Amino acid sequence: MTDEEFALANSKMKKVSRTREYKGVDKGAFSVFVCPYCGLRLHAPSSNNRLFCSTGRIRPESPCAGVSIDKTLAEETLLELVRKQAEVMIDAEVKLKRRQAESETEIKQKNKERDRLRRIIAGYGQQQISLYEKYKSGELSKDVYLERKAEIKKAQSDAEEQVAEIDKDTEVSEAFTDGAPELPVKGYIDISKYDKRIMASLIEKAEVFEGDVLQVTWKHQDEYEKLLKLTS
Ligand SMILES: [Zn+2]
Repeated sequence: MTDEEFALANSKMKKVSRTREYKGVDKGAFSVFVCPYCGLRLHAPSSNNRLFCSTGRIRPESPCAGVSIDKTLAEETLLELVRKQAEVMIDAEVKLKRRQAESETEIKQKNKERDRLRRIIAGYGQQQISLYEKYKSGELSKDVYLERKAEIKKAQSDAEEQVAEIDKDTEVSEAFTDGAPELPVKGYIDISKYDKRIMASLIEKAEVFEGDVLQVTWKHQDEYEKLLKLTS
């Protein structure tokens, strides 16, 4: 197979999976339960209450045949996960707000300190000029002049180092002033009834594995991780 043929085959594969995903139907009404092996969405037949993968019916030798879970159990599990996620995110946001308040005070203090240091640094520059003038006019010997000049230089570079430290600290503090992202899951801390549409708005997919194991991929996963990272 040439590179071109491979690229063509690849682009076709992408197209196929994309059309299967969106199909022009209201996406919010889809089941969030998904077969981890073929990617098909799972449904329960009216005859019993178990979600299953259609591929497994057609190909009993495929791993899809083992994909099956009690619908009520699966839905209860997702409801529990959503309530838990809401709780975790609300807690994280409270923490974030507290840290924001702290870091705003901290940033103000550090800015003041930085201004003070910059004035001092400017003063050292002035001192060096007058020192040189005294040396030029003969008021100071060369040795004394060089010694004092070295002292001033040292003090100046110390102050500059302190400013650099402050710049580094405020960079960290400023990460907290961005604010928390809007997370719809927070509104469902008390959800008790399974609603397909709500679930589809919160959950990208819930893959069903053998032994009643569910693996959930959240929508807003990046925001969740960012918030938890900021407040951990
Ligand atoms: Zn399958």
